[in-house]
Amino acid sequence: MIIAIDGPAASGKSTVAKELAQRLGYLYIDSGAMFRAVTYYALEQGLSNEAALKPELEKLHLKSIPGGIEIDGKKLYDELRSKEVDLNVSYYSAMASLRECLKNIQRQEALCHDVIMDGRDIGTAVFPQAEIKIFLSASPEERARRRYSQRNNSLSYEEILKDIKRRDKIDSTRDIAPLKQAKDAIYIDTSTLSLEEVLNKIEGIINNVSLCSQYHC
Ligand code: C5P
Repeated sequence: MIIAIDGPAASGKSTVAKELAQRLGYLYIDSGAMFRAVTYYALEQGLSNEAALKPELEKLHLKSIPGGIEIDGKKLYDELRSKEVDLNVSYYSAMASLRECLKNIQRQEALCHDVIMDGRDIGTAVFPQAEIKIFLSASPEERARRRYSQRNNSLSYEEILKDIKRRDKIDSTRDIAPLKQAKDAIYIDTSTLSLEEVLNKIEGIINNVSLCSQYHC
């Protein structure tokens, strides 16, 4: 079974997806971390546009590891959430060659596993056939408040809010695989819900789908 959880920045996708994967014994794949890893790599190598990045993508070895990403033999964890990466990731994520490259890796990593993958285009482009699609959202202010309280970084609440709004705009207006709710995704506004309430809702949805497929309804 594939469970796709999409939504805008800091909507709680990864916290929910990680916890659900643990409860269900599924593999959790953080697709945002892959885009972050390539952004980190591109910044480090001085690859500032698609023409420079594209030939490198063909040689790049990237895979998910617990809590991070391994790229070209280097394991990245906290670096993936740096301010530099936050500021540049949506720019690189709009590049067609990068999206195509990561879509193939995402599909390969999900072979032979029950998977929960979170991102922006998992239900629309990566796994349009996913059995369960959830679209999680919350107001930008609530998302910024959560990110501010979670992250141990130097950014103020206002700076985080500005970055979230900026990324939402780029991610949802790009030409290829923009952030949007799949037609068959279930929308959950998490603004006023606790983590446990969100998890209960999604577990209810999973149980219904499992029952339905058992009885062919
Ligand atoms: O989920 P996270 O905030 O870590 O994602 C970082 C960025 O990676 C997003 O703002 C977006 O630009 C990009 N992304 C994407 N498609 C995905 C996952 C992430 O474009 N499936």
